[in-house]
Amino acid sequence: MAEFRPGDAEQTAFLAELLEARLLIDSGVPGVYGRGEGFERVRHAFDAKVTAAADLDDPERMAFPPVLPKRRIEEIGYLKSFPHLAGTIFSFDGDEEQAATQEARAEAHEDWSEFQAQTDLCLTPAACYPVYPAIAARGPLSSGGVMVDAGGSYVFRHEPSGDPARLQMFHQREIVRIGEPDTVAAWRDSWRDRSVELLRSVGLDASFDVASDPFFGRSGRLLARSQKAQALKFEVLVQIAGPEPTAVASFNYHQDHFSGTYGIVMDAEDPTAHTACLGFGLERITLALLRAHGLDPDAWPTEVRGELGL
Ligand code: ZN
Repeated sequence: MAEFRPGDAEQTAFLAELLEARLLIDSGVPGVYGRGEGFERVRHAFDAKVTAAADLDDPERMAFPPVLPKRRIEEIGYLKSFPHLAGTIFSFDGDEEQAATQEARAEAHEDWSEFQAQTDLCLTPAACYPVYPAIAARGPLSSGGVMVDAGGSYVFRHEPSGDPARLQMFHQREIVRIGEPDTVAAWRDSWRDRSVELLRSVGLDASFDVASDPFFGRSGRLLARSQKAQALKFEVLVQIAGPEPTAVASFNYHQDHFSGTYGIVMDAEDPTAHTACLGFGLERITLALLRAHGLDPDAWPTEVRGELGL
C-alpha cells in the first residue's frame, strides 16, 4: 500500500476551506473528491481555453475512457518505472458459496480480496497512452505527422495525500505530437511558451523548469537524473498551497520510446518518428485559480472572468 502523506499545515487548511465552501466533496478517502458546481465551472472554463489554444494547430480530436487494457501498461514498461502509482481492476471470480463468504466479509469490512481476480483492465495512468497504438495502427505517417487533442480524461495515480493538489484521480488535458524529430522538438518549444502565457492570461504567476518523473526505486533515481540532464521533461509551475510551487502542466519528450514500442514510422526515407505530449492538470489549475483569486469565482477580477468566459 502506498503510504498516506499528510499535507502540511497550509495544505490542510486550504483543503478544509475547499470542503467548507463545497467546492470539493469529501469521499472518506484522501485524494478522491467529488466536485461542487463552482469547481466544475472553473475546470470546464479552463478546459475550453486549452481547446481554443490547441485549435490553432488544427488537431485531430480523440477521446478515451479512464480505463486501459492492462496489456498497454505492460508493453510500455510502466510497471518498471511507476509500479507504486499503477491501479489495476479486479473483479469477482468464484462460485455462489464464495460470493456469500465475500459478501459476509465485505459487510464486516474485513479483507475479501482473495475472491477477486485481475481483469484485463487497469486505470489509465496518463491520458496520452491510448493515442500511440491508435496512431500506429494506421500505418506510416505522412510528412508533418499528427497532432492529437486527447481531451481531458480522468487518470489515476495511487498516492494518497492530504495535499488537495495531489489527487488520486484527476483530469489530465493532453495534447500529443507525433512526427519527425525536428517537428516534434519545435512543437514542444512553441508550446512551452504558449502554455506559460495561457496560465498568465488568467492571472497565475507561472514559470517553467526542467523536471523529472517520480521513477520508482534506486534505478529510478538514475533514470530521473538522466531525464533531467537531457531536458526531456519540463513543468509549468504555479504556487498553490505548498511551500514549493506545484507543477500544473508538463511536457514530456519521449524520443522514440512509444514509436519504437508500437512501430510508429514516417512514410519517408528516414522513417524515424518521435513523440511528445503536453498535459495540463485541470484540477491543479482550478485549485491554483481558487487560491489566487478567492473561493468565489463570481467575485474574481473582471479581466480573469473575461479570459475564462465565466
Ligand atoms: Zn502524456
